[in-house]
Amino acid sequence: MVIFFPFIFSGNFQGMAIFPFIFVRYKEMKENQTLINHERIHLRQQIELLWIFFFLLYFGEYLVNFIKFRNSDRAYRSISFEQEAYFNEKNLSYLQHRKFWNFLRYYYKRKS
Ligand SMILES: [Zn+2]
Repeated sequence: MVIFFPFIFSGNFQGMAIFPFIFVRYKEMKENQTLINHERIHLRQQIELLWIFFFLLYFGEYLVNFIKFRNSDRAYRSISFEQEAYFNEKNLSYLQHRKFWNFLRYYYKRKS
């Protein structure tokens, strides 16, 4: 379910997934297929990790990245969950053939 909810956003963030919802910053973003696909990838990751473990790993990885890079944008983009979502967001059929726990591939794939 996609909900227009601008109040939780700061910086450049346009969308956010908290199972079972996708929040978007601007109403017209409900039609943005790439953005919605990106957030749907996060919903799948959350289901696979029983919700709570997704958020623990997500923020844990962010912290480790932040200590490493000392840059919040780089720390955010280097999170494996984000790498998977950014890498595949334009592939609208990605979730139909994605393998279970496929975000693990992005732990090893890291470029930076
Ligand atoms: Zn994301």
